[in-house]
Formats: sequence, C-alpha cells, structure tokens
Amino acid sequence: MVSVLTAEPLDRFLDYKAPEGGVWDGAFVRVPLGPRKVIGVVWGPGAGDYDYAKIRPVGAVLDVPPMAEDMRQFLVRAAEYTLTPMAAMLRLATRVPDLGAPPGLRKILRRGLGEPERMTPARERVLEVLEAGDGFAPGELSTLAGVSSSVISGLEKLGVVDRVTAPRDAPFERLDPDLPSKDLNVDQLAAAKALREAVRSRRYGTVLLKGVTGSGKTEVYLEAVAEALRSGRQALVLLPEIALTGAFLERVEARFGARPAEWHSGVTQADRRRCWRGVATGEARLVVGARSALFLPFRELGLIVVDEEHDTSYKQEDGVLYHARDMAVLRASMTSASVVLASATPALESWANARAGKYARLDLAERFGVAELPEMAAIDMREDRPERGRWVSSALKGATFQRLQAGEQVLWFLNRRGYAPVTQCRACGHQIGCKECDARLVEHRFQKKLMCHQCGAERGVPEACPDCGKEGMLAAIGPGVERLAEEAAALFPEARIEILSSDQTESARALKARIEAIAEGSADIIIGTQIVAKGHNFPKLTLVGVIDADLGLQGGDLRAAERTFQLVRQVAGRAGRAERRGRALIQSYAPEHPVIQAILSGEEEAFWEAEAASREEAGAPPFGRMAGVIVSGPDEQIVTDVARQLARTCAGVVQLGAQVFGPAPAQIARIRGRYRYRLLVKAPKGRVLQPALAAWRAGVKLPANCRVTLDIDPQSFF
Ligand code: ADP
Ligand code: ZN
Repeated sequence: MVSVLTAEPLDRFLDYKAPEGGVWDGAFVRVPLGPRKVIGVVWGPGAGDYDYAKIRPVGAVLDVPPMAEDMRQFLVRAAEYTLTPMAAMLRLATRVPDLGAPPGLRKILRRGLGEPERMTPARERVLEVLEAGDGFAPGELSTLAGVSSSVISGLEKLGVVDRVTAPRDAPFERLDPDLPSKDLNVDQLAAAKALREAVRSRRYGTVLLKGVTGSGKTEVYLEAVAEALRSGRQALVLLPEIALTGAFLERVEARFGARPAEWHSGVTQADRRRCWRGVATGEARLVVGARSALFLPFRELGLIVVDEEHDTSYKQEDGVLYHARDMAVLRASMTSASVVLASATPALESWANARAGKYARLDLAERFGVAELPEMAAIDMREDRPERGRWVSSALKGATFQRLQAGEQVLWFLNRRGYAPVTQCRACGHQIGCKECDARLVEHRFQKKLMCHQCGAERGVPEACPDCGKEGMLAAIGPGVERLAEEAAALFPEARIEILSSDQTESARALKARIEAIAEGSADIIIGTQIVAKGHNFPKLTLVGVIDADLGLQGGDLRAAERTFQLVRQVAGRAGRAERRGRALIQSYAPEHPVIQAILSGEEEAFWEAEAASREEAGAPPFGRMAGVIVSGPDEQIVTDVARQLARTCAGVVQLGAQVFGPAPAQIARIRGRYRYRLLVKAPKGRVLQPALAAWRAGVKLPANCRVTLDIDPQSFF
C-alpha cells in the first residue's frame, strides 16, 4: 500500500494499493478518485488508517521519470515555509499538459510554401504566429492568432498552412560549454573564476554578483553556467520578464552553440511539455525561465542564476505566495547547488546577507569597454514647472530636442499605465471608481475604455458623470504613459513615438518583437513604464528622462525608498550603453530628498548603509520577520468579525515574541467585490513563526466564502 499526493484540494495524502509490478517512491501515477482519474506522486508507504477493503489500486504508473527525493523534500520545505498545502505545491510542480501521455506523434500546423492570394487581418495574424514558432496544435494556432478554425482550414487549402505529423517532443540540441567565451576583462575574469570554483565545489553557496548595468554580469554568470554543464549538471537562469528572454537566448546560442529550454507564459503548450520532460529526463541541460521554473523536476541541478534579483516580480502575489529568490536559495541548499544573484541594485535583503557573510559578494565595478555610466542631474520641478495638464519640464524638452537632432533615442519613464489614473467630474468632483474594488478606474484612451487595474473590469468612457449626470464635464487627472505620448507628439510632431507598457492586450511575442524593433531604431522617443527598467538593451538610447521620481516615494511603504532607488537607477542605466555617454534627467518636486540625492550621487553603499540602519532600528526586514494576514470575503461584517477574532486569539504567536498589529482595512479595502482586512505580525529575526501562524489560522472557524491568507515576508502591503 502506498501513500499518494495528488494535486486535488484535499489537504491529505491518499492510500492506494500498489499496482502489479510494484511502484517506487516519487513515481508519477494515475489513481482513481471518486469517479475521476487524477495524477499523483507516490510519497511513501501508506498510512494504513483506512479500511483496507475499500482501498483502490493505483491505476497506472506514468511513463515519466520519478520525482527525485531532493525535489520532494524541496516541495515539503517550501510548503512549510510558505504555509501552502502540499497539493498546491504539487500543482506548481506539474503545470504541464499531457504529463503522462506517451511520447508518440502528433499533428501540428506549420508554415507551408503557398502564399495567400488575398491578405486579411485574420490571415496576417495567423502568419505572424506561424512564423514565430516551430509548429502549433490546431486549436492552439487559432487561439493564439485569435481566428476561427475556418480561417485556418482556408489557409490550409491554399498551402499556406501545412498539416504535418511530427514527433511529439523534438530532442534538445547539445550545448557546448567549451566554445570560446568573450575576452573577459580583469574584473570579469576574477568574478568568473570565483563562480566556476563555487560551482565546481558541489557545495551549496550563494554569491551576490553586483555590477552596474552593462558591466558584463551576464557574460560572467554564463561562465558559471558553462562550468555546471561541463560537470554534467543542469543549470537554471531565472529572468524577471519574458520579453527579455529573446535577447538572452541569442546570447546563450552565441556562447554555447544551441538554444536552451524555455519555461514561461509565452511558451506553447507543446514546448512546455517538452521542457518539463526534458528537464526530468536530464536531456535539457539549461533552462531559461520565469520564477515558476524553480518547480521543474531537475535531476541534477548544479546552478541557479537569479538575474535582476531585486525585481519585485519574483514575488508571486497570488495562489502560492512565494519569493523566487528565497526559494532558489532553499532549493539549491537542498541539492548542493550554487546560486548567483545578479543585480546592479540588489535587494536590501541580499545586500545585508552579503554584509553578514551569509552570501559571498563579487563586484564588477565598471561598464564594459568605453561605455560609461550616464551623467545624472535632477530637474527641480518647483522652478521648471510645466503648464497645467503637461508633465515635461523645459529642461527635459530641450535635452530631448538635442538628442533627436543628433539622431539618437530618448526614453521618458513614467511608471503609470494608461492615459490618466483618475477621471473626475468637474461639476460635482466625483471620481469614477470600480464597482467591485476600492480603486479608481484608469483611462486607456487608445482602447476607449476605463479599466480597473485591480480586477481588470472595464467600461466605456461615459459622456455624463455617473454621479450627477452632467454631460461633457469629465476630465482626465494626472498623467499615464498614453497621455505623456500625446504630449511628446505635440512637442515633437516629427518624432516616431512608441509606448512600452505591460498592458494585457499585447501578446508576449508581439511585445518581444516590438522591443527588438525599437532596439534597432524604429522609435525616436520611447515612453515606458517599469518594463523598460528590466535590462533591455537599446544601443541608440542616450537620454533618459524620469518624469516623476517622487511617485514611488509616496505611500509610506516599507520598501518605498529602496524601490525608488532601484527603479530610477535601473532606468537611468538604460542610457548610453554603446559608445556614447548617456544622460539621465530626473524630474522631482523634492530633489533634496535623501533618496533622490543618493540616486544622483551614486553613493550606493552609503544609501544601503543608511537604509539598513533605519530598518534595523525599526526591527523591519531583513532585521526582523514579518508576516501579513489578509482576511477577505464578500460580507464586510463577517470579514471584520473574523479579523477581530484573529486579533483576540493571537496568544500563540505573541508567545514567540511577535507583535500583532491590526486589524485595519487594507490599503485597497475591496478587490473583486471582496472586502479585505489586514493584520501584521512582526517578530525578531530568527524566530520560526510558521507553525504558530498555521495553528492560529486553524483555530478560527471560517464562514463559507471568507478566506485568511498568510503572506510570509510580505513584499507589498496593499
Ligand atoms: P550586464 O549583465 O551587467 O548588464 P552584459 O553582460 O549584458 O552586462 O554586458 C553588456 C554588454 O557588453 C553586452 O553587449 C556584452 O556582450 C558586452 N560585453 C561585456 N563584457 C564583454 C567582454 N569581455 N567582451 C566583449 N563584450 C562584452
Ligand atoms: Zn476592480
């Protein structure tokens, strides 16, 4: 009898009779559950506390390599740390279609030799998708292109689309670690050597690789990857943004002669499956992926690189709340692998861990070659104030004009999507809000919509104020990137303007293509949100204007200073990567603010020292522990009752030396119709809170529909 973990929300392991021929720990199996058959993993001998006569046998052992012992232990520890049920962990680890299906053959659609005699927008989209990949399942092609199957069968008749039989999983090409690397400079050589030695030691260790943008961190950590490959182990590189993978894949191909496996939301279902299986069998030696790639079934992982390790997107904020950087360290420590955390502006946590000697630290001081760091200056907006409804100072206008004249690219950075964050009635002062959330609707003018950035709800832009009914009085308040683009177009009518923002309407592929075109010079002025901060290389870009450097400093978030520092330094670092020195102009209404001063002076260590000192004094992370408790539900009375009950019953947590604050309405007090109250747990460093937190949550009986979410090491406090 064996105990099986399934991905079903059951909260326990299930007993089954072993199949004929036996079964082993870690085996993937199909088991009957009620009327259904579900996939599970054999977790050990059965508990035997169930009527043997009623126990059903395992249906089948799947034709995939068993889950390794260290992977199973990793899931257990990650579940304990994040207070997540094991079933949810298994779901993370098996997010792949047709897990158990035999390799076999499948039908795919590919670009044929024919040409469409007549082009339609629908046909064009099909071609675009076909040209971006190596073949698609029929249903997938119509979904990705957003066309009906009749469009596709039409194209098939014309020979534009070919239906072919292909092996289900194409093999992975061999990566050759011994192809020549770039000629590394002295700093880079020293760092590469240290990383190689770390990987070769086959002992767990984490290295913080710090270096300004363009200093060659990627070149250096590719040498660590080479060492892992050479020693017959697998490597994983995590990137924060899938739009970055394109450029990265090319660099891998240049260095190792073949492409690695990819794992992120832009990968087709077929390729996801191929990647998962390749990782499990060990054929895939290098994976480039998003945070969830950490849960792939590596057989012999030797290295995890977390690039742009400070990036906030490494924290998953729904479902399983985990931080990929922490989980990378956990996973590596359980499997004797090395971790490289690469950043120009590390998270304070990583910086402090390096200072405390828990992580090693390697610095790359200079930009590679001739490229220098941009020259930075603040523009005092109190003195150079634009007229109402405008956001660009005359100093930034002038500098932009000069760069455009010289045929160079300019980036205006504003971390706000859409046209305007607020739409207000000039007659009654009403601001249009979301019906389901405690949030104002953001105008997206190009799409002629008002949109809630919390829940995604949309509506048309009304003529009349929904509150007082007056017509023609609604006005946009404040800027978003679309509105800034309007200003740019008015100022520079000749310039080609491109907005880069993570609006959900654009596919990952389309975004990638657009970024590549921009890098080659298809735009003169780029207007971007924070997605431009993430390591895109725009060689022609020489001027960065930060429209509102004060934006991130408002709101009093624990990490406001750190985030602003990171974001503005990152964005400024986009300027002048090639031969020309760049310039960054930072618009602020308070340029004397210590964070703005630290950004300008570039005295990073001093900034981190000061930030660390103030966090230490406050007992805040990383010098203290925190956990967020979010109570949510559709009925506000019930939610507050549960939150108060939690506050009354926190003795077990308090016994550990923790303080409990709240409850208070969350900053966004309602999302998707659910009211939200928060409590905050603060404890001295080194206390293990999880068991007490779990018991605390379990002690409160939850009415239907009401949820208590525990967020260990919260990153956001909304
Ligand atoms: P980072 O990851 O620190 O931003 P990269 O590794 O991307 O820096 O390097 C910036 C640019 O400089 C890249 O185009 C890279 O290929 C180039 N580069 C860095 N080091 C070298 C080197 N030693 N020889 C040639 N090119 C290099
Ligand atoms: Zn909403």
